[in-house]
Amino acid sequence: MSRLVRLADRRAVVAGDGFTLVRESGAPLPDGDVIIPAADWIARGEALGGRSGRTGVWLGPAEDPAILKDRLAGLALVAVEFPKFTDGRGYSIGALLRRRYGWTGELRAIGEVLRDQLFYLARAGFDAFALAPGRDAEAAARAFEDFSIAYQDASDGRTPALADRAAAAREAKIVRTRKLLARIAAAHPDAAFASSLSAEDMVLTDLIARAGLPIRVFTLDTGRLHAETLGMIGEARARYGIEIEVMRPVAAEVEAHVAAHGAHAFYESLELRKACCFIRKVEPLNRALAGRSAWLTGQRRDQAVTRGALPEEETDTARGMAKFNPLADWSWEDVLAYAARFEVPLNPLHARGYPSIGCEPCTRAIRPGEDPRAGRWWWEQADKKECGLHEQPSAQSLESAA
Ligand code: SF4
Repeated sequence: MSRLVRLADRRAVVAGDGFTLVRESGAPLPDGDVIIPAADWIARGEALGGRSGRTGVWLGPAEDPAILKDRLAGLALVAVEFPKFTDGRGYSIGALLRRRYGWTGELRAIGEVLRDQLFYLARAGFDAFALAPGRDAEAAARAFEDFSIAYQDASDGRTPALADRAAAAREAKIVRTRKLLARIAAAHPDAAFASSLSAEDMVLTDLIARAGLPIRVFTLDTGRLHAETLGMIGEARARYGIEIEVMRPVAAEVEAHVAAHGAHAFYESLELRKACCFIRKVEPLNRALAGRSAWLTGQRRDQAVTRGALPEEETDTARGMAKFNPLADWSWEDVLAYAARFEVPLNPLHARGYPSIGCEPCTRAIRPGEDPRAGRWWWEQADKKECGLHEQPSAQSLESAA
């Protein structure tokens, strides 16, 4: 039995589906409940009367739902085909069935239905979704739940509304962030986004890529990152068709530091740890930003005590450029909700207890209840846990990086 995501009592649930879809007109029908082409259903007419199972019909994207006008009584459901993600004709068909023809029974979306469409499908009046093959129905239901849609039957002419204020606030944050990103791109055509490939930064990448903004995305490969983190570069390429530029440290500087202090000097003192971070992160960052007028980060205020006053927009005085933190007021839940809704690829380490991910030797998984940044440089005090990327570098360090 295949499975559906179904909206019931304002909740999204995964349910079994006992209907068999028969796409070919005139084909022999199996026993039990069937869904057949709408035109076939009309053509068969009385001949279907002797069947014991229920009958639903499906409409293709080019079909006029008016063919069902005055014939909807007695149907078990109407299924509307979405042949591909970008084909929006099914939304109009659904809305017409609900609003013009008064269909109050099950309205099902079938075909290439993705979970980030569910929100919009519900608004058009759909209440059941047969996801595309291979899609995770439970994940889709969870994503939908997260947005707490107050599903209303669109046949009453009212616009479905968001169920609670938290969901509305989350939606408003997304809209505001999109506007901010568009404003940054317009004001700073040379803006660059320093991505750590974390969940936050993949969400920001998604927002940039979906809007087609000309913001360059780069990452700092310190040479000590987890393979899972580096794997996100390929994930972004596959998902968004963008190439995340990789900045690397100067090999001679890394070698000199290791020769002088050892490969694990960062455990020995804050100074040596910051020296390693400078060589592997800060200097490549300075190089990536040289000559630009603005840069972006995926930092959030509630990530760490050191970020509690993080502004959305600030001036990086040492670098003489604007700095934007578009997700400054997003919570971790906001990030995960967005990622679930838009199927943003995430570093698998997040699911293994790493809410914050840095270099492999300097990051560990956290235990339940621990601070999200507890796994970063865990041997240091919480108020020292920054790598220097977001501190104002000295003029001298900028000169050496240029
Ligand atoms: S996080 Fe650790 S390994 Fe990475 S650059 Fe900083 S000190 Fe070096």
